[in-house]
Amino acid sequence: MTNKLIIGNWKMNGSRASIKALLAEIVAAEVAPGCEVVVCAPSPYLAMCAHILSGSGVRLGAQDLSAHESGAYTGEVSASMLREFGCHYVLIGHSERRTYHHENDAAVACKTVRALEAGLIPVVCVGETPHERESGQTEAVLSQQVLALTTALSSSQLTQIVIAYEPVWAIGTGHSASADTAQQAHATIRRYLNAPCSILYGGSVKPDNAAQLLAMPDIDGALIGGASLNAKAFLTIAHAC
Ligand code: PGA
Repeated sequence: MTNKLIIGNWKMNGSRASIKALLAEIVAAEVAPGCEVVVCAPSPYLAMCAHILSGSGVRLGAQDLSAHESGAYTGEVSASMLREFGCHYVLIGHSERRTYHHENDAAVACKTVRALEAGLIPVVCVGETPHERESGQTEAVLSQQVLALTTALSSSQLTQIVIAYEPVWAIGTGHSASADTAQQAHATIRRYLNAPCSILYGGSVKPDNAAQLLAMPDIDGALIGGASLNAKAFLTIAHAC
């Protein structure tokens, strides 16, 4: 757990040209030792990204995967397909998937198992909504989300996952959790997980707040949305490890 993990989540953004330009800058930059950099690209661009990233230290991730291995699931992409196209990581249960695609904790746990079976590192996103925080339910929500994982995964599988704590109220709002608030949530998650997992913080991570967040004892890296689309901003965050 010594390495900090810096993951860019491009969401549904980019084009062939913009992604090539972004990756050219990221690959050319020197990444600080002790920092692993990952970019999570939209599915159609994975093969192109894998090609550009080959031989570099930057790893590739996907943004979602199917809970099924193969078969009649139109529109879905399986874990083994992602693996075959050079992915090492996959995001699972991002709040946008939970909200717009109604993914519940059970589906998230199932996808996590699928990813592990295919040799992918799952980055499982958890976090409370603004209403849940305001009504004092943060710990209850986080423990519930973690319980779905500790129930579905063996103890050795649990050690192979990464958790991303992303409070929904901080995603894309420009209002990051303070370092203390994030630290508190991370410590809670770690207590319920009871396994040596990396726990990343996500939600409006920017060059000007990254160092403070990454300095906290239970924050092992960052999951970055908006700022990961700008090479300079993303690399500044990576250098803050
Ligand atoms: P943001 O997104 O950095 O734009 O807040 C984070 C995420 O959704 O992973």
